[in-house]
Parts: sequence; C-alpha cells; structure tokens
Amino acid sequence: MLLPQSIPCDLLSHPLLDQKQVELQVLRLDKVHPEVTGNKFYKLQYNLHEALSQNHRQVLTFGGAYSNHIFATAAAAREVGLASVGIIRGEELDAQNPTLSFARAAGMTLLGISRESYRQKSQADFLENLRKQFGDFYLIPEGGTNALAIQGTREILSASHSSFSHFLTPIGTGGTFAGIATSLLPHQQLLGISALKGEGIREELTDLLNIEGIQSPGNLTVLTQYHQGGYAKWTPELIDFIHWFWDEFAIPLDPIYTGKMAFACWDLLQRNHFPPGSRIGLIHTGGLQGIRGFTQRTGIALPSP
Ligand SMILES: *Cc1c(COP(=O)(O)O)cnc(C)c1O
Repeated sequence: MLLPQSIPCDLLSHPLLDQKQVELQVLRLDKVHPEVTGNKFYKLQYNLHEALSQNHRQVLTFGGAYSNHIFATAAAAREVGLASVGIIRGEELDAQNPTLSFARAAGMTLLGISRESYRQKSQADFLENLRKQFGDFYLIPEGGTNALAIQGTREILSASHSSFSHFLTPIGTGGTFAGIATSLLPHQQLLGISALKGEGIREELTDLLNIEGIQSPGNLTVLTQYHQGGYAKWTPELIDFIHWFWDEFAIPLDPIYTGKMAFACWDLLQRNHFPPGSRIGLIHTGGLQGIRGFTQRTGIALPSP
C-alpha cells in the first residue's frame, strides 16, 4: 500500500518576506515518495486500494506523453502489485520520451491513439473495446480526478497546518483544489492558480465541488491570469523565475504547474495581496519528472533535484 506520509516543509527566508511581514513555507509534496510524487500520491492511493479490494489485476488510465499522472500511475501500480495500461494521446510513441520510457520500464503497457480517438475516452463503447483488447481493468480517469482521488487530496492538510492563513495550489483538473478546499479551516484562504488558459475552469470547479458535495469551510479563490500562454506553454519570465527560485531557495519547480504557482505567489506578494502577519503555504504538487521531457522538447535546461 501507499501509506500516508508526513509532508516536509521548507521555511523560506528573503528580504521581501520580511518587508511585507509575511511567512512563506513550501509544503514539499514532491518529497513524499521517490516516484509516486506530489499530488498524484494522494490522488492514487485510494483508487489503487479500491482496485485491489475489487480484486482487479490491472488499472488503465489516460494521459499525454509527458504526463505526471502516467508516470505516477505506472510506479504506484507496480508498487502495489497491479498491472497497468496507459492510453497515450498521439499515435506515435517517441522512444526517447523519458516519461514513457520510465512507465514502460515500470511495467506499464502503452498504447498511443489518435487525438480523435482520445476524445472518446469516456464513452462506454470505446472503453468496451479497450476491455476486449486488454482484459478487465479498474479505470482511473485522465488526470486521476474522481471521488476517491478527492478523498486522498483531503489528507494533504492536517492539524499541523492549522496556523496557516493562506495556501496556494496549482490547478489542472481541480481534484487537488477540491480536496484541499474540503479540509480548510474557517480562517484559511485557498488560492488556486490555473495552469490552463481561459475561464472555463471556474465552471468545471463549481461543477466538481457540487458533484462531490463540497462546501468549503474556508475561502476559495481561483486565479486565471498566470497560465503563461496556456497549458504546457511558457514565457521567458517563467523560466527566469524558476532559475531565480532555485538560486534563492534551492527548491526545484516544474514549468507546467508549480513554477506558475510560485510565480503567482511572488507576484501577489509584491502587489500586497497578503496582509502583514499572513502565514502562506505553497503546495508543491511535484511534477519534477516532467523537466527532462521539457528540456528535450525545448532545449531549455531547468534545475532539477
Ligand atoms: C497533475 C498535477 C496538477 C494538477 O492537479 P489537479 O488535481 O488535476 O488539479 C498540479 N501539479 C502537478 C505537479 C501535477 O502533476
């Protein structure tokens, strides 16, 4: 089993934090497991438990070719003794892709499918065909967000975090945001930093919170202005910021999620968003495995652990 971990916390020290009279800590979910890192650890733990208790032998899931979810699912399934199948968006599976190489080495069976087929991934007949091809499986949706994933992400915050006033987390599908929202205390504020371009995520989150029956005791805000061009897009400012953050604090950030969140935090800090006395927790959701693939695609080197 993947057992709950205590989360290492780094207290940052910088003149701007003194000047604004705020405290900033990073909750290092990237360190909870050597391979099943970040929020994916929490999103997968109850799903794998459920797969085992339903006597499944394998799990099947979906993702992009550089997906943190694919990487983590392959490692987690192997750890608990389940076989795994990864359905990858895009027909050509690049033999050099470090995420897919890792997944394959962890025993995951990979199938690349066209972007058109990929869009049908929630349809019953499509899943039925996959069952014919691979045998029965426990299905984990793309991005891993479902009720059991949220049950896991509720456990990110614990009593040891009760004195924080603000938390920041990146948003992809919102499963992590939803879980943290559930476990906020009334005096706490959660800022979700969307990694996607556009306002659509607000409605998706509202729907997700409604479906899961979540009414947060705390205060929720979603910010959509820090996407840096869109999902998996980047700007030179973001790249510079990630290098700067590493030089200052020796904490690596990924360019897809955590880099954008930390960038947002620093920007909000400069704009006096956080009142004096604030205790801010940055939720480092991991994603560092993606750096190798990012460097391969763009030629841009980034600090990694
Ligand atoms: C998957 C992922 C996210 C997005 O999580 P959601 O629960 O889908 O919002 C954020 N950060 C990292 C590093 C991720 O891998």
